[in-house]
Amino acid sequence: MAYDDQNIFAKILRAEAPAFKVYEDEFSLAFMDVMPQVDGHTLVIPKDATENLHEADPEILGLTIVNVQKVAAAVKKAFDSPGIMIAQLNGKAAGQTVFHLHFHILPRKDGLDASMHAREMADFTLLEDHAARIRAAL
Ligand code: AMP
Repeated sequence: MAYDDQNIFAKILRAEAPAFKVYEDEFSLAFMDVMPQVDGHTLVIPKDATENLHEADPEILGLTIVNVQKVAAAVKKAFDSPGIMIAQLNGKAAGQTVFHLHFHILPRKDGLDASMHAREMADFTLLEDHAARIRAAL
């Protein structure tokens, strides 16, 4: 399947859609998930037009995962989280709903404490507050 440049993350990258950004460099962007499974649920994406892990340029993938590591440390600190789960879905059958490569960073406390995937929109004031906490921890 060809990369669809109308997906929501492509729009965020072109500043055609808003995002609660926490980190950005030449190669990647990190922002709050608008339908968080837990407080602090953050996404890291490459700026490269890449649908999933299988299609990723290894060099870009390497740069992206380094930023996953960096942002995950800030999320852990900002949310005082004993556990961090990294999730990454490839293909509809795996539950992928946005077809631009992304890594989920999920603070975890007590095992199965996350809500359903991509279900409920969070309060935007709260998301901005969470983004600010993570930025401060970077
Ligand atoms: P996946 O199902 O792995 O493709 O994950 C897509 C994620 O993107 C879900 O967790 C959604 O809640 C999240 N999402 C969808 N639209 C937006 C948006 N406009 N800004 C931030 N996150 C979004």
